[in-house]
Amino acid sequence: MKFAVVGGGVLGRTLAMELLPYGPVDIWDPHPKNGRESSAYQAGGMLAPYSEREKGEPQVFALGKASLELWPQLFDKLSKFGLHHQSQGSLIVAHRRDHGLWHEVRDKVCHSLPDQSFEEGPAHHYEAELSANLGKALFLPQEAHVDPRSFLEASYSFLLEHGVQWIQERVPQLAPGNVPVLFDQYDYTFDCRGLGALQDTEDLRGVRGEAAIVHAPQVNLHRPVRVMHPRYSLYVVPRPNNRYYLGATQIESSSNSPVTLRSGLEILSAAFAIHPGFAESHIEELCVGLRPAFFDNNPEIRVSGRFIQVNGLFRHGFLLSPIIAHLAAAHVLGNHDQQLFDTIVKDIS
Ligand SMILES: Cc1cc2nc3c(=O)[nH]c(=O)nc-3n(C[C@H](O)[C@H](O)[C@H](O)COP(=O)(O)OP(=O)(O)OC[C@H]3O[C@@H](n4cnc5c(N)ncnc54)[C@H](O)[C@@H]3O)c2cc1C
Repeated sequence: MKFAVVGGGVLGRTLAMELLPYGPVDIWDPHPKNGRESSAYQAGGMLAPYSEREKGEPQVFALGKASLELWPQLFDKLSKFGLHHQSQGSLIVAHRRDHGLWHEVRDKVCHSLPDQSFEEGPAHHYEAELSANLGKALFLPQEAHVDPRSFLEASYSFLLEHGVQWIQERVPQLAPGNVPVLFDQYDYTFDCRGLGALQDTEDLRGVRGEAAIVHAPQVNLHRPVRVMHPRYSLYVVPRPNNRYYLGATQIESSSNSPVTLRSGLEILSAAFAIHPGFAESHIEELCVGLRPAFFDNNPEIRVSGRFIQVNGLFRHGFLLSPIIAHLAAAHVLGNHDQQLFDTIVKDIS
């Protein structure tokens, strides 16, 4: 079998890795290597299905847990190509004055979880440098994170080394019943263009996210920390060389205009609230990205014969790509034994 993957963001690259053992794969994307134009480039890289229960999306939790189990295979494949990742768990904290909010979130996240899936205790017990102004921390030991930009570079090198052809072209139109003849050469064509598929995909929308990247030599945190506040919840995610990713906002807008003053203040003050050392950090980037989402914020695999749209990974593209890629490949390989399969694969032909 020969496969085309249109769109080489986090999903397209992960799907290409999944398909490789079954035949030649071409990726069509005008932006190779660092994926600068993708939503993935701006992401925090959290692999956090437990924390995401705060948002109350049960399907994301089920898919996310399954996907988290697949990530170690990608860590193994990509580490030698420079992927940075950590699997030391994550923390949820709030300022002491917001302890009511913290308890509310703790109850949502831990509801019906087995005891070994979480712990709680003083924040500095898990990260010695966290501010004494924080109340308790919820520790989720199974969560992990990757550095998205190192993922994009490492996966590019991996794919090229394994014979994937990267066709550096934009595919302007691609929809069920409107697949260019050029794609007749493939047994299956997967549309993984994220928001690039906006015009061709029913119900797709962009959800704005703003973030900052700072260099903070005075700060030594080892785990991502999610900071709860009555108006927002934001992550402080450690990256290599004392860099920290701070973000991201979630705003119902498909504008990718620069970060607003209000968002910038919220993002930066969340970091300062958990560690005073951020006061002297240098802001290296203020970034904006759009998350591709369907109306219910759940991902879908829409099948129309040999053309398959895979989209709507919303705020979970890193977390979910391995399981979504696995399910999309399972469809074409005729291996439908996954319990999760029926929940997201839709025949639209
Ligand atoms: C600020 C922010 C923070 C986030 N944080 C996290 C997080 O912590 N954890 C997490 O799991 N997820 C996170 N996400 C979500 C995640 O980034 C997205 O869900 C994910 O990137 C979607 O993957 P994708 O491959 O579908 O789309 P993208 O990553 O956007 O990739 C789409 C690709 O398609 C290509 N393309 C577009 N149009 C065309 C065309 N016409 N022809 C050919 N190629 C085309 C683009 O060049 C791009 O490479 C975050 C997103 C944002 C914006």
